[in-house]
Amino acid sequence: MTDRGSSRKHADIRGGAKTHTLWMLALLWLSGSCDSAPSSQPEADLPAPFPELEERSKPGGPKAHLQRIDIYGTQRHNTAGARVVLTFEGAPLFRQKQMSPEGVLPARIAIELVDTDWGESVPVSQAVGRGGVERVRLATPNPRVVIDLQRDAKGRVFYLTDPYRIVIDVSAHGARLTRKRRPVVVLDPGHGGDEPGAANDEYDLVEAKVALEISKLTADRIRAIMPRARVFLTREDDTGLSLEARCALANAMEADVFASIHLNAGSEDVRKGGVTTFVLDTTNNRQALRLAARENGTRVAEVSGIQTLLARLHRRGQTNESLRLARKIQRTTLSRGRVVLPRLADRGVRRSMFYVLVGARMPAVLVEASFLTYEPEARALTTRYYRRALADGIASGIASYLRSR
Ligand SMILES: [Zn+2]
Repeated sequence: MTDRGSSRKHADIRGGAKTHTLWMLALLWLSGSCDSAPSSQPEADLPAPFPELEERSKPGGPKAHLQRIDIYGTQRHNTAGARVVLTFEGAPLFRQKQMSPEGVLPARIAIELVDTDWGESVPVSQAVGRGGVERVRLATPNPRVVIDLQRDAKGRVFYLTDPYRIVIDVSAHGARLTRKRRPVVVLDPGHGGDEPGAANDEYDLVEAKVALEISKLTADRIRAIMPRARVFLTREDDTGLSLEARCALANAMEADVFASIHLNAGSEDVRKGGVTTFVLDTTNNRQALRLAARENGTRVAEVSGIQTLLARLHRRGQTNESLRLARKIQRTTLSRGRVVLPRLADRGVRRSMFYVLVGARMPAVLVEASFLTYEPEARALTTRYYRRALADGIASGIASYLRSR
């Protein structure tokens, strides 16, 4: 849920964070000196202030270290947005300031870091000139990272954990364009590279590989049944890709649908296996949190601690559209899958806190298409027949959603 009272949200976030040391707490708060109008500026999207912030600085604590600045979504010339990701060792406190243009200075977002240094390999200034980002630069005296924005661009800031990342999502023209055009679908084969995901050694199944093949078959199928659609994959081979990069691509392409495709695995709950389609939302369901933690590469405590904050970035209207998309995909994937496995279980549409979906500006789902660790499904997954059935199901769910808009 995303509409609970703000005092409750504060309580939730603090409650979740109590499991960590104070130092590990990372706080977002709005700058008191922010010079832009509160109601019409991006601050409306940003997490609310933390009242106890001033007590937080802990002298003598270990310094955090900015390891890398990655900029995603800017490969194409006419990209609709960019994502800047700051990756840290340790968890710095930070303050964000969103500033209007003044004199020669463009509108900009400054991330002021407390007790943080940065590696020599981090470039002092990177010209971007695309996706709403003019330049990303480091500044002193207090260490900060400044994102100079292009005209009409807007940004919002959130953080992810394990490793600690501050993410600045910039939208080139503030709001989505509503012009009529060919629908764009971005499919995201889960994992890849150094992160194979789940596996079943007995059947020689690796999630990253199976997800890639199902995604490719899904793309082929969408192109066949909806020739107008443009379909893109976040990865075409067994290369690694960060969770942030995947959604950044979908935002940059102004995709109409983003679907991350995975295979499930479980220890205790595989008596039935089955298909599940997830949307991004908070959850108290332990199974859903465990699965999210595994897919996110985090611990369960991290997910439950951070989820209220992150879910607020996701607007309610978008959750409803994601649910509509999820229900269609769930139904068609089950019915196609059941042609091969008549007893394929329906685990339903569920909500959880998948990092890969955070910040998506379009209806976005994560499909756990079957269980690698449930024997009948594992055996079926070794066949092209079953993989194609699942892909056909996912594709017709997406096509049905696009046609019904
Ligand atoms: Zn996965």
